Amino acid sequence: MSSPTRITHLVAGSPWEGTAERTSPVYNPATGEQTGELDLASGALVGEVVDRAHRAWQEEWRDASLTKRTQVLFTFRQLLDERKEEIGALITAEHGKVLSDAVGEVTRGLEVAEFACGIPHLLKGGFTENASTKVDVYSIRQSLGVVAVISPFNFPAMVPLWFVPVAIACGNAVVLKPSEKDPSAALAVAKLWTEAGLPDGVMNVVHGDKESVDALLTHPEVRSVSFVGSTPIAKYVYETGTAHGKRVQALGGAKNHMVVLPDADLDLAADAAVNAGFGSAGERCMAISALVAVDPVGDELVQKITDRMGKLVTGDGTRGCDMGPLVTKQHRDKVAGYLDSGVEDGATLVVDGREGDVDADGEGFFLRPTLFDHVEKGMSVYDDEIFGPVLSVVRAKSYDDAIALVNSNPYGNGTAIFTNDGGAARRFQNEVEVGMIGVNVPIPVPMAYYSFGGWKNSLFGDTHAHGMEGVHFFTRGKVVTSRWLDPSHGGIELGFPQNA
Ligand code: NAD
Repeated sequence: MSSPTRITHLVAGSPWEGTAERTSPVYNPATGEQTGELDLASGALVGEVVDRAHRAWQEEWRDASLTKRTQVLFTFRQLLDERKEEIGALITAEHGKVLSDAVGEVTRGLEVAEFACGIPHLLKGGFTENASTKVDVYSIRQSLGVVAVISPFNFPAMVPLWFVPVAIACGNAVVLKPSEKDPSAALAVAKLWTEAGLPDGVMNVVHGDKESVDALLTHPEVRSVSFVGSTPIAKYVYETGTAHGKRVQALGGAKNHMVVLPDADLDLAADAAVNAGFGSAGERCMAISALVAVDPVGDELVQKITDRMGKLVTGDGTRGCDMGPLVTKQHRDKVAGYLDSGVEDGATLVVDGREGDVDADGEGFFLRPTLFDHVEKGMSVYDDEIFGPVLSVVRAKSYDDAIALVNSNPYGNGTAIFTNDGGAARRFQNEVEVGMIGVNVPIPVPMAYYSFGGWKNSLFGDTHAHGMEGVHFFTRGKVVTSRWLDPSHGGIELGFPQNA
């Protein structure tokens, strides 16, 4: 066993040279081995990094031309594309998801960098000539200053990429705090900015836990916070950040329902349920965790899903398996605990993920795919966000019962309907209280030029990630009313100006 590698902060383009007072272990979840020792930032260090970022923003980046910004963005995009396999390997080594899925996550993040390459077009304001006689009005959007991004473990590269390229393109300086569970991929992506020609200090990474998050939420020079994580922390970040005068977008947890109507193609629906329920071991904010089977398709659908689950191979993500381990031992044990509580609450355990073999060496944090049937509201397997490979089938008598169930859920991140009835699908997209909807698509993650975000307890704030909402979040608007000297418009007039 080799000794753990030290992982440290990235300050102004260079690794931090200090000595950390606190550190935290990083594991390879497929083997259970500790592979890294992560420096955790103190509040004081976070303050220094924010101050450094603020200087870089003021002196180097806020007035950088759009030509310069675009050049950096195009180079960054190129480097990220070239290194995506390398970054994917880092993700698999610390998160556990299978390699193809890890590279896929980098590719989805890359799309945001591509979107941000169009920043000159995205930042164009409006211009109105002669709004009043010889008076012109125009709008501009300017950067905020230092912006903070705080990301979760489950998409260690993609979630930071939802925000960072847009923030930088808009002229801000960034302090990113990745998840302490799998920090290396975010760090590797952050280093590419320096290589792409971004001035030192515009992009920084601090590692840490609550102490560093609190320092970001309260530092006066941090102008905005983009957070993604669990609902209780999202709510806390939203409340604390806004109380300190910052704009905050805080994306929270999820319980995503997939509704299958009786006229659906059941083979397509079963494939989709397995892909969306167990991909990335269910550790996706858009994973399907509740499948709502509308009578009479329940028995047939459960059988088709069970058949497919029998063919899934769970194991080390580097070995071409279908599904990898959970991120930590604690999380694996917590998820496994739901298998007992589901049975105690009266659900039918159709496939028990604690049984069967895994393709891995060592003491990895594995739980194989699990299926519950006859799950109901009020059972913890339905009510809680489990965030693991546990799919619950809920039976509904009708479309109306199904939509009532989805809309009564406190979360509203993603949902999907499977049907061949265009009218039913159209009614669903209109009536459902969820931010991202799939029609015969189980994980409807919007493209980068749209915006990503849920409703209700899945998002605190009013701005979703990337797309035009991202550009608005990372800029402030100004409207200029301008008149160049014309003697005919002189004179005293104490009334409110009116058009003439
Ligand atoms: P988490 O809430 O535990 O951690 C998220 C971030 O908050 C991390 O950087 C962590 O260090 C920090 N943090 C943790 N505890 C904190 C505290 N007490 N005070 C301040 N900061 C704290 O989430 P996670 O386990 O890393 O990620 C999984 C969760 O993220 C799931 O609930 C999932 O649904 C959610 N998620 C949501 C979306 C979305 O788009 N809505 C996307 C990805 C993940």
